[in-house]
Amino acid sequence: MSTPVEIYGSLVFNDVTMQEKLPSDVYKKLSQTMKEGKALDPDVANAVAHAMKEWAIEHGATHYAHWFQPLTGITSEKHDAFIDPVGNGTAITKFSGKELIQGEPDASSFPSGGLRATFEARGYTAWDPTSYAFIKDEVLCIPTAFSSYTGEALDKKTPLLRSMAAIGEQGERVLRLFGEDLGPVTSTVGAEQEYFLIPEKMLHARQDLAVCGRTLFGAAPSKGQELEEHYFGAIRPTVNEFMKELDDELWKLGIAAKTKHNEVAPCQHELAPVFCQCNRAIDENLLTMEKMRLLASHYGLECLQHEKPFEGINGSGKHDNWSLSAGGVNLFDPGDNPIENLRFLVFLTCVIEAVDEYQELLRMSVASASNDHRLGADEAPPAIVSMFLGDEISGIVDALVTDHESEYTTAVKVAMDLGVDVLPNFLKDNTDRNRTSPFAFTGNKWEFRMPGSQQNLSDCNMVLNTAVAKSLKDFADALEAVPRERFDQEAIAYVKRSLAKHRRIIFGGNGYSAEWEEEAARRGLANHRTTAEALPCFVDPKSIELFCQMGVMSETEVRSRYEVKLEKYNKLMNIETRVMKRMAYRDYLPAISEYAADVADRITSIKTALPAADATHLEESLNIILKGMKEASEALTALNDLHDEAEAIADEQERANFYAARIIPAMDALRAPIDRLENFVDCQYWPVPTYNDILFY
Ligand code: ADP
Ligand code: MG
Repeated sequence: MSTPVEIYGSLVFNDVTMQEKLPSDVYKKLSQTMKEGKALDPDVANAVAHAMKEWAIEHGATHYAHWFQPLTGITSEKHDAFIDPVGNGTAITKFSGKELIQGEPDASSFPSGGLRATFEARGYTAWDPTSYAFIKDEVLCIPTAFSSYTGEALDKKTPLLRSMAAIGEQGERVLRLFGEDLGPVTSTVGAEQEYFLIPEKMLHARQDLAVCGRTLFGAAPSKGQELEEHYFGAIRPTVNEFMKELDDELWKLGIAAKTKHNEVAPCQHELAPVFCQCNRAIDENLLTMEKMRLLASHYGLECLQHEKPFEGINGSGKHDNWSLSAGGVNLFDPGDNPIENLRFLVFLTCVIEAVDEYQELLRMSVASASNDHRLGADEAPPAIVSMFLGDEISGIVDALVTDHESEYTTAVKVAMDLGVDVLPNFLKDNTDRNRTSPFAFTGNKWEFRMPGSQQNLSDCNMVLNTAVAKSLKDFADALEAVPRERFDQEAIAYVKRSLAKHRRIIFGGNGYSAEWEEEAARRGLANHRTTAEALPCFVDPKSIELFCQMGVMSETEVRSRYEVKLEKYNKLMNIETRVMKRMAYRDYLPAISEYAADVADRITSIKTALPAADATHLEESLNIILKGMKEASEALTALNDLHDEAEAIADEQERANFYAARIIPAMDALRAPIDRLENFVDCQYWPVPTYNDILFY
């Protein structure tokens, strides 16, 4: 048995492997490319490709694939064998530099939002040398960016890399004002992934779970999460075995899976890796999600990554822990005395400014039909973007805005005495946590909690990086001309002005409460409950200007992405409506009426046997069932009519609005009577497994 340290990174063509396998001049040139984002010359590419191929074959690989992230959000790969026949009946293996750095997949079957017609099929993939190649299932996978023949990005990664370049450049400008030469600024991400594991056979027994990844029907289980016994509870043995295999597989891929535990909802779990550079962290998260889905089947389990598989039970998110670092220094580390740490205050201010200024874009970046069930519903976090800073940093912001910073005293850490001598005494953190906040400062990083569990984090990090790059740019533009001796004074004045303007986004209270919704409206904060409402801001002149100015996306690219998101929302809503209707017609209504007929037969046979018998309880029960069936049938007819109406709307945004405003309530109206009947109908007749069956196996 190998130890975790021995297997760690064994399937990754990482820096150590490169150094070992590449001639030293090639290694040097490649490192430079990776560090400085310079173009790779063909000779170097050929040498790297050769070494990569030899290494991959040594590790059992037979194929290579350009691995990319089209606008579907998931990953794509097409496998090509290394084998190359030489004509005399034998073959050699071949992998050239050109094959490494560039691929030409047919782009016509990927969403492009009108960027190209099907006859313009050509697309290019290009190696992203800042994310390491790795071996997955005997395939050497090369992380790549994907673009159209005309150069527009067709993937999630390209704009993300551009946003990282923007923040790198603007961050470095700001650091130079502090006389610090820490090199380029990079954004770092640690993605906490939540998921459900349920028995595989339960999924196959339900169309809604199998097709939509969530239940469209289902009464609340007799026991939910109210006893709070699942969170951090002992992990059941099968799940534990799954987690162990998952860890091993991830470690081999150089993914530092660190924390695993049971989450709040029954059957819900979480995995958190150690953070790393933003683009790599997202590649890692996508691989983690894929491994989870595939490995679950080894244990007869199914991994549900949908944001809300079960109504009334906590949904799954993906907390995006985000920070900036330069030369190994975390720029959000407040230090011992944050109020005198001007660099910290400037970066802090720039984030507050960015989140307030582009709150709608951030909300947009996590909008999807499935995530609406978390953000727009009664669940954490709300659809309103706000920031939690904690007592200490909030105190500093208040002091600065009111010009009272000289009276501010740095919070001293208080010793915590648990009153039992054997327990160690420790220093208490200066601030408690706030779990309801969508965007929280957690000591030395930010935690954006709105992203959904099945989302690709590229979009939200691209928006976040770009928005923060813009506020860093504004700061640098304003202060670059200021003489060194006046810099501190002018910088603090800038910080105060900006904080005063943007402090409305700061909120430390309960983000789930109705009072907050009212208060947020008074503050003028946006509250887009559905994806249909959240998407249009993507194509606002203000957003387009931001992306263009920061060199992250052209107007054409922005518009095409908006189209893709809209289309995806409409398609998903259409699929869910179809599945719901189908289940109602084919599964629920026949089963319920069969049971109703049997109850009627029972009444008749009892009355026949004993005309004076009191069968009122059965009659009552029959009446309840018939009433529910009538309600369900009427709701189904209404849904059917509305669905036809929805699909007849040509304009995608109008159709999305219609789905959000009209179809969703109609779906709820159909679900309600059927869920109610679940508790009346004999279980032998019920056509699908219930929440009780699925969650408490
Ligand atoms: P919490 O308990 O607040 O969720 P953890 O320390 O468990 O915090 O970290 C959660 C995630 O945040 C982990 O994936 C961790 O690697 C990541 N993280 C920690 N520091 C940073 C940072 N500077 N940048 C990005 N992510 C970070
Ligand atoms: Mg967390």
